[in-house]
Amino acid sequence: MNSYNCDLHIHSHHSIGTSKNLNLDTIAQTSKKKGLHILGTGDVLQPDWLKYLEKNLRQDRDGAFSYKGINFILQSELEDQESIHELVFFPDFSTVREVQKKLEPYSKNILGEWGGRPRVNLPPPELVDIITDFGAMIGPAHAFTPFRAIFRQNKYATLEQCYQDAVKKVKFLELGLSANTDLADKLDSLKNVSFLSNSDAHSESPRSLGREFNKIKMEDPSFDELVLALERKNQRKIELNVGLNPKLGKYYNMFCNKCRRRVMFGKSEKTGDTLFNEYTISEEFIKIVSENPVNARKEYINNVSKGKIVCPACKEKINKNIKIKLGVSERIDVISTSDEPIHPNHRPPYINAVPLIDIIRAVKKIKSTNSVTVLRFYDKMLNALGTEFDILIDIEIEEIKKFDEKIATIIEAIRNNKVEYTPGGGGTYGQIQLEL
Ligand SMILES: [Zn+2]
Ligand SMILES: [Zn+2]
Repeated sequence: MNSYNCDLHIHSHHSIGTSKNLNLDTIAQTSKKKGLHILGTGDVLQPDWLKYLEKNLRQDRDGAFSYKGINFILQSELEDQESIHELVFFPDFSTVREVQKKLEPYSKNILGEWGGRPRVNLPPPELVDIITDFGAMIGPAHAFTPFRAIFRQNKYATLEQCYQDAVKKVKFLELGLSANTDLADKLDSLKNVSFLSNSDAHSESPRSLGREFNKIKMEDPSFDELVLALERKNQRKIELNVGLNPKLGKYYNMFCNKCRRRVMFGKSEKTGDTLFNEYTISEEFIKIVSENPVNARKEYINNVSKGKIVCPACKEKINKNIKIKLGVSERIDVISTSDEPIHPNHRPPYINAVPLIDIIRAVKKIKSTNSVTVLRFYDKMLNALGTEFDILIDIEIEEIKKFDEKIATIIEAIRNNKVEYTPGGGGTYGQIQLEL
């Protein structure tokens, strides 16, 4: 049996807001640097991208495709009638074409130039039935994000509510960047599904591609083997989920739906039972102080859930009543069935990683995300030490120290979970707080 590093949810340049340079060459190039073995193709239902993939991917055997040494699984994301994003894997190109034909009457954009992530006006249970009848696999994408996800505010609280009779056909759930296993395993309804941690990359940059991935134990990199792994059969399984600390994701913390400030709680010096009427407003945050921040936060979340909390910043600055929205962490608090995670026996460990490019940027104090200095240093480091995943996860810290002491120290701190994070929210990524 083999271990494969897999990032199974990406996009092509046919989805809105993606890089023009996303193609098989750039994807393969970055994958080799990262240490990724299997990639989702992204957007396989989009006609132009489908043609391009059919022309360029080599079929190694049934359901196993490759390009310049990198393996691919035919993959797409769909939006259903409930505006929930679903991740889909296909066994082969002929199935992709059949599904495309079947879904076309329910979709305005599935054959369109920008149909990378087509909207399909079918209820989730029906969509699951159709997809699985064709022998493909489907499960919720970035399940907890506040927009277009199964567990978003005022939407579902369990898999059963959403998929009804079809729930047994859903074998996996994608955590999304702002969640991890500890958060998701507070929901009892998820104990039987496998968790995927994927990048949802919109660019070929090493900051984006593989920023989350799964280590999967399988015989070979094919669709059939992936099915066995997600169903945890014949010793196939996900061995490890690797991803950002949820606080680094852009939807972890609650936020104002307009000004996008994140709402944080702190302790007040004063006494008295003023719950959360004292706050300070900065560029990015609304900080609410109270004598008992834990209780105050609980009650606040409860009221946000009911749509009762108006953003104090928007009220004060533009005199508008805009509602505060729950982030991933607070939404999980609301719908969780236990306060602490209860991991089923099959659940693999989840480990934190931060893209090496971002660690280098932090050490060199360079803000730009495409700085040539940073990219050169990144390549130099890979040449000396191995793939990015080797450096982030496996190589002895002492070895990394010989190359760069500061970077080694940060990687060590991330590995041992000894880093402070400023939580992201409302579309802004979180940050690592470094003392260098
Ligand atoms: Zn999505
Ligand atoms: Zn606001």
